[in-house]
Amino acid sequence: MARSVLDFSAFSHSVSSEETHLIESLVAQYGAPLMLLDCDSIRQQYRALKAALPGVTLHFALKPLPLPAVVQTLLAEGASFDLATSGEVDLVAREGVPAERTIHTHPIKRDADIRDALAYGCDVFVVDNMNELEKFIPYRDQADVLIRLSFRNAEAFADLSKKFGCSADGAIEIATRAQELGIRIKGLSFHVGSQTIDPTKYVDAIHACHEVMVRIAELGLPAISTLDIGGGFPVAYNDEVMPIDQFCQPINEALACLPDTVQVLAEPGRFIVAPAMTNVASVMGQADREGETWYYLDDGVYGSFSGLIFDHGDYPIISLNQEGERFPSVLAGPTCDSIDVVAEHILLPKLNNGDLIITRMMGAYSSATATDFNFFKRAQTVVLNDIALENRMIG
Ligand SMILES: *Cc1c(COP(=O)(O)O)cnc(C)c1O
Repeated sequence: MARSVLDFSAFSHSVSSEETHLIESLVAQYGAPLMLLDCDSIRQQYRALKAALPGVTLHFALKPLPLPAVVQTLLAEGASFDLATSGEVDLVAREGVPAERTIHTHPIKRDADIRDALAYGCDVFVVDNMNELEKFIPYRDQADVLIRLSFRNAEAFADLSKKFGCSADGAIEIATRAQELGIRIKGLSFHVGSQTIDPTKYVDAIHACHEVMVRIAELGLPAISTLDIGGGFPVAYNDEVMPIDQFCQPINEALACLPDTVQVLAEPGRFIVAPAMTNVASVMGQADREGETWYYLDDGVYGSFSGLIFDHGDYPIISLNQEGERFPSVLAGPTCDSIDVVAEHILLPKLNNGDLIITRMMGAYSSATATDFNFFKRAQTVVLNDIALENRMIG
């Protein structure tokens, strides 16, 4: 049974000969561009975060990489799931995820989104305003609600508290109104922002939520039984980040201050899947422009590299061929748009058409946001080390 020999460590700026052989044989079999998905990496990341956050239920947020193989791998690990749309509900339902292991965390929903989730059996939802709370009046006997608070974080890749979340006072008002309406408030939630590099953001948010819990209890409202600390856990792209156990230590200390009755959840996305995907693109053509060689790849910012636009992506890029003198070069995508440039002033050896470029750390928010612009087909995904222990190609 073929096992992957890929070295997915973020700082691996070289390629072993086994890896070269595997990549070349996969390209010979399936063509380029490819996204290689290593399920072993997903298992490793899940276990590392699980160990770093003992007692916290991890709901994988599907958004960064909504693929069946990812769901299956995490399901087998005992993970729970965080859903935001009816499409994500459909995916986990198709993959046989028990609904008790899911929560629905989109703060703004249509009635049909609520009904689809309830029909599947997912009955925990998130609100951050009165208008949304009132949508649960018809479902008050079925649904439990978390109130999402906002904590701004300008440094994150995505400051998710700009678009969603309410203040502490707003949360008290929602909890008070929910009591009048007979809607059950189960807990509080927040998202400190994606790729948050400073754990203090979580610590401050946990303490602020604890205060809200105390105020809710003082008002005689039903006790808060859940705190959802969201996603945002960082991974190393070109810059190093704190090891995850060290990162989570102050978070665990803050969580230890909460009453024992509070169940804690997290919604990691990026951390679980970012290291799992490696892009393989091939050189379609080349031209010399203003002293640099431009290599035109068969994948670009409208495809797998969409994270360069949507996610501030900073991926480690290397050429499979490491031989010879290096020259300042440009890597461009295949489309006829000038924004479609993957890397400028990158030092590369002289490449031939057909040579392969390897980009690591592409698992989160890259293929998920890819398009078929100009009718360049998205990269195919090859699943390595999946549960059936066989490599296979998917769409
Ligand atoms: C996107 C998202 C996540 C995942 O965030 P990461 O930064 O990828 O860990 C979790 N929860 C919600 C509500 C999200 O929108």
